[in-house]
Amino acid sequence: MTRSAHDPALAAVAAIAEEAVALFAGPDRRLLRACRAPGCVLYFVRNHPRREWCSDGCGNRARVARHYQRHHGGG
Ligand SMILES: [Zn+2]
Repeated sequence: MTRSAHDPALAAVAAIAEEAVALFAGPDRRLLRACRAPGCVLYFVRNHPRREWCSDGCGNRARVARHYQRHHGGG
């Protein structure tokens, strides 16, 4: 049995890995931040000083979680 070298899923993973390596090794690495949204493990380039999330969706989720914690977390 032979595995195709042109597996589209594999190619996608390779492309993402290449991008990640470029990001972690490139000039932007000092701006690299882990997304602070709950449950998100992505990294992003902080192109704005107040940016804390990889996407607007994560920003919204983080705000909602913070709001929920403040009102329901008892702490
Ligand atoms: Zn995120």
